[in-house]
Amino acid sequence: MLCEMCGAESANLEPRKVSGSVLRLCSSCGEMGSQTSFRESIGHRAYVSQALEKRRQRDRYEELEPDEYVLVSDYGSRVRRAREKKGLGPANLAIKISEKKSILTSVEAGNMKPNEKLIKKLENALGIKLLEKVEVQSSTSSNQTNKALTMGDLLKQAMDEK
Ligand SMILES: [Zn+2]
Repeated sequence: MLCEMCGAESANLEPRKVSGSVLRLCSSCGEMGSQTSFRESIGHRAYVSQALEKRRQRDRYEELEPDEYVLVSDYGSRVRRAREKKGLGPANLAIKISEKKSILTSVEAGNMKPNEKLIKKLENALGIKLLEKVEVQSSTSSNQTNKALTMGDLLKQAMDEK
């Protein structure tokens, strides 16, 4: 590469700001300019497209976030109702899922949250669902309204509305 100031061949050209424009200078000419910001060094156009690409990657990442599952709040009564429907006593169900009866009754009373393993056992034995999917109410949705829209975003929105 050639220094844009003196024309010397140099492997390490450095972007320096010289009277308003950014030039790639060799190390001996480098003193003449002032330091450039990252944005100036890569050029405005490149900076903008890089920033947009970063945002696209971030958005994509947010879309790929796994769904979150939480224990339903009425897990105790769901277990008890399902057990009674099957005509099982607490002791019978405890044996069936190889847990202590005291654990089962605590869960049914809502005094103990079952761990993942116990949730699975109860779900399988009783044919019920104890986990529910939660909509992640993170800042994702509010960010979307706050962030400046690009022309592409506007076009996409217009197309989605059709
Ligand atoms: Zn030079």
